Amino acid sequence: MADMNFTGPDPDLQDLLAARPQLEMHAQDGLCLEGVPLNAIADKYGTPVWVYGAGTMRARYAALRDAFAAENVPMHIHYAVKANDHLAVLNLFREQGAGADVVSIGEFLRAAQAGIVAKDVVYSGVGKSEAELEAALCAGIGQINAESAEEVEMISAVASRLGVVANIALRMNPDVDAGTHAKITTGLAGNKFGIAAVDISYLYARAAKLPGVRVAGIAMHIGSQILSTEPYHLAYEKGAEMVRALREAGQSVEVLDIGGGLGIGYQDEPGLSPNAFAAVVRQVTNGLGVRLMMEPGRYLAGPAGVLLGSVILQKQAGKRFVVLDAAMNDLMRPAMYEAWHGILPLDATAYRSALSPADVVGPICESADQFANDRALPDLKPGTRVALLDTGAYGAVMSSTYNARPRPAAVLVDKGGFMLITKRQDIQSLWDGEIVPGPDQAPS
Ligand SMILES: *Cc1c(COP(=O)(O)O)cnc(C)c1O
Repeated sequence: MADMNFTGPDPDLQDLLAARPQLEMHAQDGLCLEGVPLNAIADKYGTPVWVYGAGTMRARYAALRDAFAAENVPMHIHYAVKANDHLAVLNLFREQGAGADVVSIGEFLRAAQAGIVAKDVVYSGVGKSEAELEAALCAGIGQINAESAEEVEMISAVASRLGVVANIALRMNPDVDAGTHAKITTGLAGNKFGIAAVDISYLYARAAKLPGVRVAGIAMHIGSQILSTEPYHLAYEKGAEMVRALREAGQSVEVLDIGGGLGIGYQDEPGLSPNAFAAVVRQVTNGLGVRLMMEPGRYLAGPAGVLLGSVILQKQAGKRFVVLDAAMNDLMRPAMYEAWHGILPLDATAYRSALSPADVVGPICESADQFANDRALPDLKPGTRVALLDTGAYGAVMSSTYNARPRPAAVLVDKGGFMLITKRQDIQSLWDGEIVPGPDQAPS
């Protein structure tokens, strides 16, 4: 399996741990998240189970907020709901002062359910249906990021019908290579996202004439898991140039939404530094006089989560396979993006034992159901447990019930304690809503 950010040999288990202050290996209790033994959580709620550290999420939010404060850049943070849409997670970021970035009406309603008011929500995405736009506008959504000329017309028509004026930003495609995996690049000319820079000024002027929209400014989002400030620098320079050009043409530009995409360290690559990122933003937007917004998801939630799985068995078949009870239906990223996730045993003795290569797989009937290839791991006896690291973002949100596997439970760790925040799905609920045609009910 080729790895997205493969930079060399796999890091030692000790190095994985040392790079993650939220995790520690306790001699008796084994692997702990924010001081809470993960074995205690697995004992109580079984595996597979997602565990999220509230302290880690708060600390990462604070690091980002403080980085902008240190640069004297007022920044409005809208948490990208799609990274982890659990109500408890949304509630936590709301408490920290975040708004939300949503990409569907379902996410909009989730954010509302978590107490995020509509005016603090930005609605992004390449295809918002009329019904979705209508619901968002009726609720008083703060901003809609429009991704095409066709969509601007559509938003204006829906808003006019409702007798409201939609606050929109135009999502500009800056045509820069984010240097990330092809499946998570969004700011290149060939991507489906955004509006080409050459079309922005015409569309801005056109939108100013439409009755149902008010154009507040420009939005951008160039991709995800970006590890260098370079692509941001290029993209934001283009964004700032666009703001100046629009103003020279007599348009009013109040908002610059710079998107998300800040990368985290999965293997041994350092994550993007919020301080370096904030410095680039200040440099590029200095004196521009815009209200700055951003939409981070992975950076805030990714490192805060682990997926715990139990070893079903180890199979010798030319090589060693460690078969877990967690699978690709739970965590899709390795199968979908060839993503690399650290794997640590929960048991302290196993952690210190001799290592040998193993493929770590799930029980699903797909060869892609593999979490790691030739990974140096200790002997992992049946019933022992492992943690798949950095799975707080694009983890549970992408899971499915493929192979009739119910969705795992989720647990929140906070202030030295833990609580269940999602019940493990009942197997029976998998066929809730399914109807079998019979004598009483047949296709007609
Ligand atoms: C996915 C997405 C984000 C968040 O991306 P991260 O890589 O998780 O920070 C932000 N804005 C838009 C428009 C998105 O689609």
